[in-house]
Amino acid sequence: MVLVGQKARRSRYLKDAANTREGSGMSGIDDWFDEKTLLDMAPPDVFLRGASAAEHGSVQILERDEEHLRSRVEDTEVLTTEFWLSSGELKWSCTCGAAETHPCEHLMASALATWPGEAPRAE
Ligand SMILES: [Zn+2]
Repeated sequence: MVLVGQKARRSRYLKDAANTREGSGMSGIDDWFDEKTLLDMAPPDVFLRGASAAEHGSVQILERDEEHLRSRVEDTEVLTTEFWLSSGELKWSCTCGAAETHPCEHLMASALATWPGEAPRAE
């Protein structure tokens, strides 16, 4: 009688549950307004012009909730900007009409104006 021993090595079952993002899909619009995300959306010079406008107090926030931000921005003219969430994506519009491919400086200024404390300094 020949006994053939066989011992299969059981692959370890790696628990990955700890890495699941908490609250994904439930994030508010503020989560889009950190510096990194804003710089991903717009060119740095647009970001800086927005920062400068926010710093000079040109932004008045009219409406703000979890999914919506509407502001009035004073530039050479008065503009109305809007950000809103749609199916988990950030959408925007500005009455300057230059905010098609990326948010314009007015939208940047509005986003930065939601930051607690001071807006970042423009060079
Ligand atoms: Zn604009």
